Order: sequence, then structure tokens, then C-alpha cells
Amino acid sequence: MNIDRYRRQTLVKELGQKGQEILAKKHAIIIGGGGLGSHSANLLTRIGIGRIDIIDDDIVDITNLHRTSVFSEQDIGKSKTLILEEKLRDVNTKLLIKGINQKVTVENIWPLVQYADVIIDGTDSIPLRLLINEVSIQHNIPWVYAGVYETVGMVMGILPKKTSCFQCITQDIPKSELQEIPVFGSLPATIAAIQCNEAIKLLLGKQPAGLLIYDVWNQCFDIMNIKRNPYCPMCGNKK
Ligand SMILES: [Zn+2]
Repeated sequence: MNIDRYRRQTLVKELGQKGQEILAKKHAIIIGGGGLGSHSANLLTRIGIGRIDIIDDDIVDITNLHRTSVFSEQDIGKSKTLILEEKLRDVNTKLLIKGINQKVTVENIWPLVQYADVIIDGTDSIPLRLLINEVSIQHNIPWVYAGVYETVGMVMGILPKKTSCFQCITQDIPKSELQEIPVFGSLPATIAAIQCNEAIKLLLGKQPAGLLIYDVWNQCFDIMNIKRNPYCPMCGNKK
């Protein structure tokens, strides 16, 4: 590991040299390579997570550029994951970065995530998040939910059977019937950064903070500690 690259980061006592070495051995899998996922992939590459997979079957569209990182106008029409792989490998050549141009389904989710130490939610789909939640609980893989809507973003780190799961909080998540979800341009960067912070803390054995809610327009930040629902159909022990 090139120590010099991470020198300013390892000076942070909460991380240190030991934490950096732990992160170098971890495998993060990002599902979704758009507004949230592209920022997360960029941050985790620079921070030095040893192995990063990004899964998405979408292509770069001009309407993505206001809220994503890494992509440029020349990438329009090309696979998001392959562009992320190509450009992020140049950022940090010591890591194993793989773009997987696939749609995540009930059939393929387990083979895709089976080696993950943490799953990062970069989707904008409640059914897909419920699927990530299910596989996380079944196979004991921590994951970090994130969502953005208009000027509000939410993040929650989930430790299977230890903290409340996504199913426990679904009634608190805003749902939209809109085809195109309105998103304030800088919000995904903010929320993806908070999401990566939570992911790194989970990888280093720290407890998640709870459900974080940030309203960029009204500049307010809340953390809700939602207790596990014992009757939750996914993680409850009285279901
Ligand atoms: Zn639950």
C-alpha cells in the first residue's frame, strides 16, 4: 500500500494506519452507478477501499450530468459502470475496481453480492432496496441505504439483526409515483458522502448512527433512532 497517498487520512486518529490497512482488505459493492452511486464510487476509490464493484445496466444520459460525478459529455450513451471502471482505475491503480453492466434481479443478486463486506445503495427503487435488505439479512451483510428526493436526502447504515432494517422503516420513506424524481443537483454528492462515511465506519466495526435526514434547502439535519420492529416481516424475532 502506498502510505504517502493516504498520509493526511491516516493522521486522523479515528482511522490511523491500522484502519487504512483494514479498508485496503475490504470489498464494497455499489448497486447503482448514477446520482448516488457515481459519487460513492469516486469517494471510496480515493479513500482506498481495496475492492469496489459497481453494478448498473444503465447508460449515461445528459440528464444525469447535473447530479453525478466522474461522467462527462463525451460519455453520453456509454455504459455508466464501464465509464466508472475506466476512469476510477486511473484515479487509484492499486485497487480492484470492476464495473458490472447488469440489472440486479431476484435471480442474480446473491451471486453478485456474495463476497461483499458492505453493500452501498445507489438505486432509486424501493423494490430493489427491499431485495438488497432481504439478501443482507439472509447472509449477514451490512448495507447502507440512501435516498434523495427534491431537497431532502436520507441515509441509514444497517447491521442485519442488530439494527432496524429497511423493512422496519419503509413506512417512513417517502414514495413517489413520478417517473422522474426531482433532485437538487448537489444533494446526491452530500448524501453519498454521508453514506460513504457510514459504510467506512461499518467496515471498521463502528455502530451505525441511525436514520439521518438532511434537508439542503432548509439546512436542517436530523438523526432518528428507530428501534427494530420485533414484528418486522424481514428481521423481526416475533414475525
Ligand atoms: Zn426489520
